[in-house]
Amino acid sequence: MTNNYKFNDNSMLAEHFSVSEFRCQCGGTHDTIINPELPEKLEKLFKALNCSAIVINSGYRCPTYSVNAGGSYSDFHTKGYAADIVCYDQFGNKISSKKVSCVAQDVGFGGIANIDGSYTATHVDVQTSNFWKGDEVVTDDYSVTDDFYSYYGISKSSGNVSTTSTIVARGIDVSEHQGVIDWEKVKSSGKVDFAIIRAGYGKESSQVDKQFERNYSECKRLNIPVGAYWYTYATTAVEAKQEASVFLRTLAGKSFEYPVAFDIEEKSNLIRALELCEAFCSEIEKAGYYTAVYSFKSAFESNISDIKEKYDTFLSHIGVEQTDYSGDYGLWQYSWTGRIDGISGDVDLDYAYKDYPSIIKNSELNGFSTSDTQSSVSEKSILEKILNHVVSIDKKMK
Ligand SMILES: [Zn+2]
Ligand SMILES: [Zn+2]
Repeated sequence: MTNNYKFNDNSMLAEHFSVSEFRCQCGGTHDTIINPELPEKLEKLFKALNCSAIVINSGYRCPTYSVNAGGSYSDFHTKGYAADIVCYDQFGNKISSKKVSCVAQDVGFGGIANIDGSYTATHVDVQTSNFWKGDEVVTDDYSVTDDFYSYYGISKSSGNVSTTSTIVARGIDVSEHQGVIDWEKVKSSGKVDFAIIRAGYGKESSQVDKQFERNYSECKRLNIPVGAYWYTYATTAVEAKQEASVFLRTLAGKSFEYPVAFDIEEKSNLIRALELCEAFCSEIEKAGYYTAVYSFKSAFESNISDIKEKYDTFLSHIGVEQTDYSGDYGLWQYSWTGRIDGISGDVDLDYAYKDYPSIIKNSELNGFSTSDTQSSVSEKSILEKILNHVVSIDKKMK
């Protein structure tokens, strides 16, 4: 059930894991033994935790080294079943091994244990005999729980991390209703890191937002990262697809650092929300765009509760200091009555919880391609290694 690899073998075992990462650290040049399920499950963990990187501190250990490293001659590291890992989130922060343990449990690792007192390193293995779930700070040998969620007091929804509560950027969303915007003033206000611009509504090409072209080109000129949204009036999947194709024509030749969103608000549309979101967003994704669904908290809790697993969430929930929406969201619209220099009247205010420009550019979505990202080959390969997975985040863990 295990494979032997020559010491110098550097081939990839999964999207983010190569043989060399599992190599024994004894200093010898013997083969590396790896059970194929190990990189496969690590890859699942990588995606489920929305990692930017997983560092393997120790993978395969020859029996001699295993004993020196505090293990035994025959533990799961010596069988090629185990890895001691540290997981990093999208901001480069270490993810708590409490959370890692919970998600490792979901992914199906047989043995899981926190290793250190600061809860940063986690042992995972693919044994099928014992299903050991431990915490080496508490006890070295024995299973402490059969469910990490209850053991660490972590709720299932927060364990399944695809967002964090850290605001990474502040922005606005605008349409022709804001009139002609003085973007220079908006920029110099220092309050706007990004703008989500309405591209239009409905299924006719005459329904492109009258300020869209200008808003877009002004933002590009002033280096304000942009996203876009389309307001739907579709009542059938066929109409939603027609809207998607007008939206795509409107986006053609442009590039967007932020998601391009499907805005579904009207009761008559929300009744068939699942069908409409799926029809619209799948077209947009197929065309190489990072999509999100924009709607109200109540809709995400009822009408769209299934689709939010599949597409990013642009949550609208205003009038509260902190939303109590329990699902994941990458964008939160928290006010309809913002005031920003350069815009007359009210404007919608948003927070972003993901570094969308990095995610989108490095995944070459939304009109960005390799030739646009001017990084050197080596930088590129590092970025690829760290961020390639984002495309697969879109495909979600289904
Ligand atoms: Zn060794
Ligand atoms: Zn270990």
